[in-house]
Amino acid sequence: MNVTFLGTGTSQGVPVPMCDCKVCTSNDFRDQRLRTSVYVEHKNVNIVIDTGPDFRQQLLREKITQIDGILFTHGHHDHISGLDDVRCFNFKYKRSMAIYASKSVEKRLRQVFSYIFASLKYPGAPQVHMTRIKNQIFQVKGLKITPINVHHGQLPILGFRIGDFTYLTDTSSIPESEDEKIYGSKVIVLDALRQTPHPTHLHLQDSIKVIEKYQPEKAYFIHMSHQMGLHKEVEENLPPNMYLAYDGLKIQVQES
Ligand SMILES: [Zn+2]
Ligand SMILES: [Zn+2]
Ligand SMILES: [Zn+2]
Repeated sequence: MNVTFLGTGTSQGVPVPMCDCKVCTSNDFRDQRLRTSVYVEHKNVNIVIDTGPDFRQQLLREKITQIDGILFTHGHHDHISGLDDVRCFNFKYKRSMAIYASKSVEKRLRQVFSYIFASLKYPGAPQVHMTRIKNQIFQVKGLKITPINVHHGQLPILGFRIGDFTYLTDTSSIPESEDEKIYGSKVIVLDALRQTPHPTHLHLQDSIKVIEKYQPEKAYFIHMSHQMGLHKEVEENLPPNMYLAYDGLKIQVQES
């Protein structure tokens, strides 16, 4: 399985316009973070998780030409607002884009993108094929996906396990009922917003504790704000099997 980090930043992205902090003015490319999204290639099935406002730019940067399905974790703007940019796939392959969303996310998508779901559509409007998902295993082109219910503050949202890869963005806590789905993951990707606590996201020290609990071979942190600090400095002080992800990072997850 190949995993490409399309974006690793929080909702504002990094750098933040008009901010002159050391992170926002850093020359290290790893301190420049588009909104969080990931591309997973496994068993000839290609999946994108979330389409934020930088989706188009991420498609161009990674030269992505195949998407078999888009999975949504939740309906916040930084995870859905790029959906309009599926049009290039509609035009090229002459078919709708398969998207997978929970009932509440579907409701949000229908509000925000009413023109996509209108009965009388503007010519050239995005075409999507919606599959409603619950906290139950589903398949994308035969590839098994296990949703994982996590808390994002008060909001219940979904993470996903694909093979031995577990992806948990925008997480403040994980119910014990989901533990069995997560144990045994070789790689866990987890929210770590910044150094100090936040009501709807894990912060770095708590993210480290979560990883120590599940003990994957490797863990990568995502959804970082400029308050996380410089990539190089923060990563140097992490436990040996934990890393800060960065935009464009590609990893392989070996199959067992
Ligand atoms: Zn977010
Ligand atoms: Zn800043
Ligand atoms: Zn969110």
